[in-house]
Formats: sequence, structure tokens, C-alpha cells
Amino acid sequence: MKIYIGTDLEGISGIDCIEMIQPGDSRYRESIERLMADLNAAIDGAFAGGATHVTVSDGHCTGKNFDISLLDPRAELDEARGEKMDAGYDGAFIIGAHAMAGTLNGFLDHTQSSKTWFNYYINGERASEQHQWAGRLAYFGIPLIMVSGDAAACEEAKTFLNPVECIAVKRGIGRNRAELLYGNDAALGAIRETAKRAMKLVGKAKPYEIKYPAEIKLELYRSDYCDEFCESHDVERLDARTVRKTVHNGLGLLFR
Ligand SMILES: [Zn+2]
Repeated sequence: MKIYIGTDLEGISGIDCIEMIQPGDSRYRESIERLMADLNAAIDGAFAGGATHVTVSDGHCTGKNFDISLLDPRAELDEARGEKMDAGYDGAFIIGAHAMAGTLNGFLDHTQSSKTWFNYYINGERASEQHQWAGRLAYFGIPLIMVSGDAAACEEAKTFLNPVECIAVKRGIGRNRAELLYGNDAALGAIRETAKRAMKLVGKAKPYEIKYPAEIKLELYRSDYCDEFCESHDVERLDARTVRKTVHNGLGLLFR
């Protein structure tokens, strides 16, 4: 069984304030070590649950967060972030997820850009990075079977994935602070067990279904953000702050 694991940083265990994900912060190194520890716990759980091959991909920001010296050597790295994804995978995990922009008590809630994106929609429904991920995976016939992150991200996953195994490692207190729900070692144990349990969903969980052609709509916070966005993207402008595009499969869900 082949498993593909994508990561983000906001929903990693042990990270409880916005400063910790800022590269200049004194605790940023700790955050990266936690990222690698959560990822390794998920990899270990996948193998314990029957995986024979695990590929990992760094999904946060520009994708240069991993400390490869700390990565479980059994895992293969997809450096180009998605290049190695193909129809040969049986399931996928997201480790370190956060909820969509505008989620109450979602720790560091956002969709692609914290600064400029207000709401993102797929076929008229507000959607998140998790939807984008699940849609991309579905293009290759891969179901998203496990999510770790804050409580709001896990709740979000359950609104559109069924079945899915989730582990909430923290709870947002407002946007920029979180209460950790486990000590460090206990969080790793819980992630490992959740990953192992998720392996039982292989063959049962279905890839996330989106109706195509799909209308993708994006509302930006301000009209000048929208001006700039239109200069660099092939989109139809609907009003001062809103753009639209039509996509024909799960590879087109992101605005890059
Ligand atoms: Zn991120």
C-alpha cells in the first residue's frame, strides 16, 4: 500500500502562537523539529498499519521547511511537491492542517494567502486548502484518509470527508493563540495511532468528488489586491474584489 503525506505548519503539535511560524522567531527551529516529529509519527503509523511505501511533501509556504536530516529514512521525499503523486497511491494524509479563512477559533485560519484572500469558493460553496488538496488527490483517484491539525481543521475535514480519521492536537483561542491538547510525546503517540487506524480506510474511503466543470471564485480583501491578482492570473473579474475561473479537473483548483 502506497501512502502520500502532505504537510503544513500551522496545525503541527507544540505550535501554540503565531510567532512560532515566523522564520525569524527564536522558537522557529523548535517548530521545524515539531513538524518533522509529527511527520515521522504519521509515517511510522502508516507503516505499522500496512503501508509499503510512503512519500512526503512539504506544503507550507514555499516548501523549504523540512530538515531532511530528521526525516524517517523509510520515507521518500517529493521535493517538487506533487510531482511524484500518481494513481499508484492508495491513500493520503495531511499533517499540520489549518482551517479555511474566516473560521471562528481556527488557529491561523486562512486559505492560500492570509494577507489577501477573504473567501474562496468551489461551485458556490466556501472551501479551504483541505478541499483543494482533496480535489487534487482525487484527480489521481486517491482518497484523503487522515488529517492532523487544530480542532477547527479537523471539524472542517469531517464536513466533506467521510470516512476520515482526524486527530486534533490543539484548539484555537481566537486566531493567533492555541491551547495544546497533548504534551509533546503524547501528541506524537496520538498521531501515530490515528495514522495506523486510517490505514484501515484504504479501500473504503472514496476520493473527494467535485462536479466538473467547476466554478472557482475568489474574493480578495481589497480591490487593489484584486487589481494585482488580475495582472498575474488568467481570470474573469466579477466585481471590485471578486474573480472567477472555470476548471475541468482537480489540478486547477489552486490559484498559483
Ligand atoms: Zn502553511
